[in-house]
Amino acid sequence: MTKNNNLSIWVKRLGQRHYSVPCTGKTLCGMPMLGNNYSNMIPESDQEECTECSREAVSMAFEGDVLDPMGDGDEPKVWP
Ligand SMILES: [Zn+2]
Repeated sequence: MTKNNNLSIWVKRLGQRHYSVPCTGKTLCGMPMLGNNYSNMIPESDQEECTECSREAVSMAFEGDVLDPMGDGDEPKVWP
């Protein structure tokens, strides 16, 4: 089970950038993913990262990194 490396980016119309786990239909901060995803339409420099999503994403990455060397994962993770 991969974690952080399959997060999707979800950008709202005003440029707020959220992250989501695919197929959950929600962002990491719990916002329903309704409307359009503007990630390809708004330049990254104009996007503002959602602090909650970014904190979640970081903690997920941290978890994956830490748990795997502990032998807690069922399958080895390959980081690109
Ligand atoms: Zn968010």
